Amino acid sequence: MRLLNWLCESTDERPDAVRIEDRVVSWVELRRLACAVADDLRGVDRVAIEATADLETVVGVVGALLAGAAVVPVPPDAGPIERGHILRDSAAEAMLVPAHAEGPDGPVGPPRVPVDLSRRSDTVPAEPDPAATALILYTSGTTGAPKGAVLSRRAVAACLDGLADAWAWTPDDLLVHGLPLFHVHGLVLGVLGPLRLGSRLHHTGTPRPQRYAAAAGTLYFGVPTVWSRIAADPVAARALRGARLLVSGSAALPVAVFDDLATLTGHHVVERYGMTETLITVSARADAPRRPGTVGLPLPGVRTRVVDERGDAVTADGATMGELQVCGPTLFDGYLDRPDADAATRTPDGWFRTGDVATVGPDGWHRIVGRAATDLIKSGGYRIGAGEVEDALLAHPGVREAAVVGTPHPDLGQQVTAYVVGDGVGEAELIDFVARQLSAHKRPRQVRLVDALPRNALGKVQKTRLTAD
Ligand code: ATP
Ligand code: MG
Repeated sequence: MRLLNWLCESTDERPDAVRIEDRVVSWVELRRLACAVADDLRGVDRVAIEATADLETVVGVVGALLAGAAVVPVPPDAGPIERGHILRDSAAEAMLVPAHAEGPDGPVGPPRVPVDLSRRSDTVPAEPDPAATALILYTSGTTGAPKGAVLSRRAVAACLDGLADAWAWTPDDLLVHGLPLFHVHGLVLGVLGPLRLGSRLHHTGTPRPQRYAAAAGTLYFGVPTVWSRIAADPVAARALRGARLLVSGSAALPVAVFDDLATLTGHHVVERYGMTETLITVSARADAPRRPGTVGLPLPGVRTRVVDERGDAVTADGATMGELQVCGPTLFDGYLDRPDADAATRTPDGWFRTGDVATVGPDGWHRIVGRAATDLIKSGGYRIGAGEVEDALLAHPGVREAAVVGTPHPDLGQQVTAYVVGDGVGEAELIDFVARQLSAHKRPRQVRLVDALPRNALGKVQKTRLTAD
């Protein structure tokens, strides 16, 4: 089967199969535009692309994949240092840019190839080897400098087929989202998904609640910040009642947001877990009940284990924490030119160490506690998951956002410190509020009220920046 099977096989001339904000194309038209790009890329192994949320990005990525080139998306808002790092690190031989765009000039940069929507071709190139690289995706940079993850065509295909099974994703769906197009979530799931599996796609541009509401989709993707904005906008949220499935990922969905959306939309959000390095590995299912704070079961073909420091599986009681390790067909081939980072993430028996802490229940359901490095607080002999304390804080009506970290403490090793964006709430009140919900050792010793939390393009809180100052 071809990687972009639906796109390659389709004879569907419906004009609005792919909508990126106000621009629409049919499947056939998209394929013809992309084949013209593929013609231009003959002999190119690696091509960067200015990954704006535009139709040109979709055409460019598809053209490169049809040509068998590895695609390196460059975040459009990347500053000169990040852009230079990605272009140098990936050694891209060419850079796709919309024909009408000037594009940023820089000291480094491969030759530009315009994506020109007035050119079409009917020649679909032969399908490349499934082991060939499809994408070099840079990690989100939540914990440090982004690393290039090399993802094969077959890993991408395996991930999408697993999601089709878990989410009952079919050509009858209309997928709606407004995600950036340079990470797994927006690009692999949000663009390549519909082009392989066959649903229509509507990219809303900036993911405003009203735009999600107006799109009348069946399947919606969002990161937790998007879902929390929708939950805070009852009119928009109620408009999603007619949808089939709402899906959240990229960071933990707060329990309060899950509950509010259940009330307003009638849907229990499907939460899934993944990484740039592993693609999506664990998810709740469309055909099974969902529970707040849990990410469900391994996808077809994926194996998971939760292990202690010695590498032994922890008790599957839903409470004992350990490191989540994964293996299966969706894993990346390695970091680009980072043998040090590669070695650190592989176990001797070939499993990938996610660096995330999880629990697993007797029924196999996974709960992501957070990142071992920043979300697991070791205080006075206890191990405390930051997410549980964040959920407790977010249950307070005056708390809009919360991020909990461990900060040094002379006796306890670490203390629980909370950063809160709130409306007229006080430190003592919040400490007391958490103490009434959780055991004493989980209560924050300090609450710092701030105007905003540092977040990256996917809305993930950059906790290392919180504690840096
Ligand atoms: P970097 O590796 O550059 O620091 P990053 O880890 O944020 O950045 P990604 O690969 O985009 O880069 O994100 C993967 C991480 O996102 C996971 O390791 C996990 O910590 C978090 N994550 C993804 N989905 C979920 C989820 N449903 N619940 C909790 N955490 C999640
Ligand atoms: Mg990471």
